[in-house]
Amino acid sequence: MATAEQLDAVVVGHQDYRDSDRIVRLLTPGRGRVDVLARGARKSRRRFSAALDIGNSLRVMVKRGRGTLDFLEDVDLLDDRLHIRKDLDRIALASFACELCASAARVDRPEPRLFGLLQMALTVLDATEGVPQTGWRAGLSVKASTFAGLRPHLTECAICGEPATAPMGWRPLGGGAVHRRCDPGAPMVDLEWLHAVRQSLRTPLRHLVDVSLPTGPHSTLSHAIEDQLGRPFTSRILLDQLSNLDVAR
Ligand SMILES: [Zn+2]
Repeated sequence: MATAEQLDAVVVGHQDYRDSDRIVRLLTPGRGRVDVLARGARKSRRRFSAALDIGNSLRVMVKRGRGTLDFLEDVDLLDDRLHIRKDLDRIALASFACELCASAARVDRPEPRLFGLLQMALTVLDATEGVPQTGWRAGLSVKASTFAGLRPHLTECAICGEPATAPMGWRPLGGGAVHRRCDPGAPMVDLEWLHAVRQSLRTPLRHLVDVSLPTGPHSTLSHAIEDQLGRPFTSRILLDQLSNLDVAR
């Protein structure tokens, strides 16, 4: 009989399964992304209560299944981050953080840095009064990309390796910053924006809450991870719609 294993985890997604079960996607430090079957999770609220909401921090007991799916045996809710759920901007950013870090993580391999990044992102979102600005989301995206081995070039050209000098272009799926002389077709990007993104990579998330980036292609900073996933993040599309609303207001 398989022995149970204790994992610290953040809930990063779920989907219904059969009549009464739910498949819950977790991000863990020791095993990266793990899918577990929560039997009876939809039939009875008592079994796992509201512990399986996206963004919750848990300590779980799981048993290895025969296939790729583990069985969820027991759940301790460590932090439900209720403050996040009070407004749509914060919910959208929390969903984005979960989707980003989960997609960047490998399955069943240690991912302590991505787990730590997601925990920090959710903790900051829960604790902060205002809604984090563009620098926060940029910092989150480039940190996750870096931990996934997809760090974009920001201070030098992805093609020739020489330092960035104006005019520069931006290829989110082609390594990041490129000289326009090396890739004349690349969309233009300001040096100032590249420097600000570089700065957001080096700055802890909790210090980026009030930082706004200069004009630039912010929302493309998660494209390399979305490309690896094979589809755009649904949460990123929602975030982009919300920031367009801000512009229109
Ligand atoms: Zn170049």
